[in-house]
Amino acid sequence: MTENKAARRDYGECDVCCRGWLKINTDEIKIPIGEACQHLSDVGCGIYTTRPENPCRTFFCGWAAEDSPLPEWMQPHNSRAIVLFNAIQWQGYTFDQVVPVGEEISRKTIEWLLVFFKAHNRMAVIGKNEMQFNGKPSGKVMLMIFAPEPVKSQLEAWCQKGNDLLNQK
Ligand code: SF4
Repeated sequence: MTENKAARRDYGECDVCCRGWLKINTDEIKIPIGEACQHLSDVGCGIYTTRPENPCRTFFCGWAAEDSPLPEWMQPHNSRAIVLFNAIQWQGYTFDQVVPVGEEISRKTIEWLLVFFKAHNRMAVIGKNEMQFNGKPSGKVMLMIFAPEPVKSQLEAWCQKGNDLLNQK
């Protein structure tokens, strides 16, 4: 998604949300993991002026959100990570979700995020992409849980029973 009238920041060249790193399933736009939107062209959205409301005009990632606390360099096409604030609800707790753009998020980005989450008393789940031979993602797995005890251990135990936090919906 290249721009949103309600977003604080201009997306510029960033179109990673249209490229299959996030699963999108609305009435008008369906983007499976690993597939780019059918409307995406070499120069951005091919139906930009008539793009649908949901998600194209209403969704924006944590970087682009109004009053986003994320710095400029954390824009997803640069940091290779999409931050979704308050994206996961689990047993009464709320977690931010970090979605990698690529197989894994870089150490620099993860280290910055861990300092950020700690400073702001946030809980977060950082994912990792399972990749196909063609370089496209096929699904997400959990890489790291950032939460205080006992929440962290409780969530780890829940996941070890085979529950899938990142693909609940
Ligand atoms: S219609 Fe355009 S803005 Fe919406 S997901 Fe597709 S390429 Fe992105």
